[in-house]
Amino acid sequence: MTDEFKKSTDNLKKAVPLMMKNMVATTPANYALWYTYVDNTLPEMNAQIDNIVAQNGVCPPSANEQMYQQYIASKAETSINDLKSNLEVLVGEISCSMTDTLTDTSVFSSLIDKSFNDLERVERDNLSIEEVMTIIRKLIADSRQIRHSTSFLHNQLNTATEEITRLKDQLAEVQKDALFDSLTTLYNRRAFDRDIQTLFEIDQPMCLIVADIDHFKKLNDTYGHLFGDSVIRAIAKRLQSSCREGINAYRFGGEEFILLVPQKSLRIARQFAESQRRSIEKLNIKDRRTGEQVSSVTASFGVAERQPQDNPTSLLERADKMLYEAKNLGRNRVMPL
Ligand code: GH3
Ligand code: MG
Ligand code: MG
Repeated sequence: MTDEFKKSTDNLKKAVPLMMKNMVATTPANYALWYTYVDNTLPEMNAQIDNIVAQNGVCPPSANEQMYQQYIASKAETSINDLKSNLEVLVGEISCSMTDTLTDTSVFSSLIDKSFNDLERVERDNLSIEEVMTIIRKLIADSRQIRHSTSFLHNQLNTATEEITRLKDQLAEVQKDALFDSLTTLYNRRAFDRDIQTLFEIDQPMCLIVADIDHFKKLNDTYGHLFGDSVIRAIAKRLQSSCREGINAYRFGGEEFILLVPQKSLRIARQFAESQRRSIEKLNIKDRRTGEQVSSVTASFGVAERQPQDNPTSLLERADKMLYEAKNLGRNRVMPL
């Protein structure tokens, strides 16, 4: 056995149990990540992973993916870039064929003109049958060439259309797979679904916080949708920057956010939500177009603590109920008290 091979198998033998212990899905990307982890070649990455595991009790899917993207996948390899350059090559090829065919077509039309002139000569100059046949043969040959050329273009277009449809589907798939919400760059709903599932795989305390911006519809109506977007972004940024000790922020949809708080009690999670509420209340958001300052943005929060019989849905429902109460009691507050 070569040293290199022995090292690889040793690393794999170490990586797999670690992945199991940390509830890491056995995908090729995750193998690559955890192989690198046990290989200990990127101490900075190892420290970050150790931290994630310490704070979450497991290594949640989003964290695996982010570590993979940050440390393992080379930027040039990202599938979106590949797809984009494939599309560019295709478009380039099609426009070359188009130009070729157009050139062929215009050559052909001048050939036809010439052939017709020749045919006129049949009567005018009393051409022999042999001479007429030569002209016709030439005409047939020319038209064959043009037919070949257009059918080539036709085939190319068909292939290209199929290829473009396939690439578009792939692009949609890749985008669907994406981890982050494009407006806020927070983790998206899909990342939330996977992460909470993984956090539930082991028995450990955890809390879930839902946050919803107050009277957001009115804000949109008053200042416009674009301004609404910048409010969402500003709040997301605030939530994101205060995430620590394993707390992760997700954009759940519209103007709703979720914070997953692993290994913490309800009391701590409530305090955290309360500090977020205060910090949002203090935000000063400026409308770039009108220069208008809006300082009355608030959000309501619902907090729930995981119980032994809970699943992700029941925990989310309880937090939602608390959010609903916070709204009913006048908004800009955290429930339960
Ligand atoms: P409440 O205090 O009860 O939460 O009232 P609300 O007006 O915030 O709640 P409601 O659910 O009635 O309205 C939410 C609005 O958020 C409606 C929708 O148009 C808007 N919205 C959802 N997503 C976006 C977005 O991405 N950008 C902007 N600007 N608005 C959004
Ligand atoms: Mg809402
Ligand atoms: Mg709202």
